[in-house]
Amino acid sequence: MTGAIPELPAKDLLTLIPEYAGLVRDTTLLNPEPGDPGVRESSLGGPVLWPADEPWPYCAEEDHWTFGSDWRNRTEIVPGAVPMTPILQLFARDVPGLKFPEGKDLLQLVWCALIHEQDEGLVVPKLYWRNEAEVVAGGLLTEIPAVGEGEYDPDNMPVPSTLSPATAEDYPRWRDLPKDIWDTWEPRLRLPSGGSMWPPDSNVIGTKVGGWPAWTQPADWPDCASGHRMEHLLTITGDIQLGDCGGVYFFHCSQCPDHPWDWRFDCH
Ligand SMILES: [Zn+2]
Ligand SMILES: [Zn+2]
Repeated sequence: MTGAIPELPAKDLLTLIPEYAGLVRDTTLLNPEPGDPGVRESSLGGPVLWPADEPWPYCAEEDHWTFGSDWRNRTEIVPGAVPMTPILQLFARDVPGLKFPEGKDLLQLVWCALIHEQDEGLVVPKLYWRNEAEVVAGGLLTEIPAVGEGEYDPDNMPVPSTLSPATAEDYPRWRDLPKDIWDTWEPRLRLPSGGSMWPPDSNVIGTKVGGWPAWTQPADWPDCASGHRMEHLLTITGDIQLGDCGGVYFFHCSQCPDHPWDWRFDCH
């Protein structure tokens, strides 16, 4: 049967291509729902537990911009430095599958919600690993600056949401398949007219921790400065509009003690 084109679409990807079974990874879907999360809760776009002695981060990229509130005129506004916006706060207790650096149990993600085309970047993010008890013991920053009119793009602003984490099995997109699996199966799925008819994949779409990125463009895994290929840390997608982009993907290296991180994004 080698070389035959299986009937498509496959009811079950693993039945068609058994090698997928070896690629399964656990992911934690965060399932954000608009709400009123507290500062000691995991949240998307909610208040974050911030140390009193650490200044709130600002973005001072020279060319970040957004449209004004009058969309008929579509006037570009280019503000100066603007406060970053809380995007995600995750406590270790809510995402047991997430590997934290030694002694850390709180992950925070903020970004500048303006548009940054000069970096070919949708947003300019910053990621922090913290220890909850240490932050609380040192006192909290009470005045977290909010962005004002013209200091954010609505597509990049999350609605404050509580999270209901749930684990699921996640599989890679065809863009992330190991070369040997691709080389085995692509010829079998090739169409007489050219190209190949890959079956629908079982990649989990959503804001999630771990698992596989839902690349809509060629896979682009970053390496850390020590040369380790980073792991997929989390994806932010959909729940925020993100313009017409697929997602923002964060990666970290758990082989290095401080878990250096990097990020990628892609657009349709
Ligand atoms: Zn900015
Ligand atoms: Zn590393």
